[in-house]
Amino acid sequence: MNLADTIRTIPDYPRKGILFRDITTLMGDARAFRRSVDELVHPFAGAKIDKVAGIEARGFILGGAIAHQLSAGFVPIRKKGKLPHATIRVAYSLEYGVDEMEMHKDGVLRGERVILVDDLIATGGTAEGAVKLLNSLGAEVVAACFVIDLPELGGADKIRKLGVPVRTLVQFDGH
Ligand code: AMP
Repeated sequence: MNLADTIRTIPDYPRKGILFRDITTLMGDARAFRRSVDELVHPFAGAKIDKVAGIEARGFILGGAIAHQLSAGFVPIRKKGKLPHATIRVAYSLEYGVDEMEMHKDGVLRGERVILVDDLIATGGTAEGAVKLLNSLGAEVVAACFVIDLPELGGADKIRKLGVPVRTLVQFDGH
């Protein structure tokens, strides 16, 4: 099975010129979903991971499965205003403009070993914001895992430059 073949591409969504990589088809395929989770966690079996942090919303689905596989806790990183308890917030850059995301202040503890998860890394702005949140709470971001990398946009390299190893499974050219 080729994982890339299970990912649906939608041209001009949500805007003209964007090739939207839709992983709902991968997640709906039992073998592809299991293989993605297995391959993403493979290097971290036995790495004593305390928490998996998933980025809203597709990172919740993958991150929950990865946390279960690693016997780790799960912590959500959400768009601002959605979490009920005391939060910390960070601004992050999008292709056009900025947005803010949050996590609970007690979502991770100082010194905890965390894996960050999202479906796709493009410019890396979202993942960089998430790494900043986790680091500001004193967590050690052991790795950042994504099913899809768009290497031309440089996001994975940006995260590696922060000292965080990046694991991805499928690469697509272009945006
Ligand atoms: P970035 O911050 O530029 O790395 O963008 C990553 C975030 O935007 C992830 O949460 C992705 O789900 C989403 N995203 C960006 N580009 C695409 C794309 N071409 N297809 C699907 N999702 C994307």
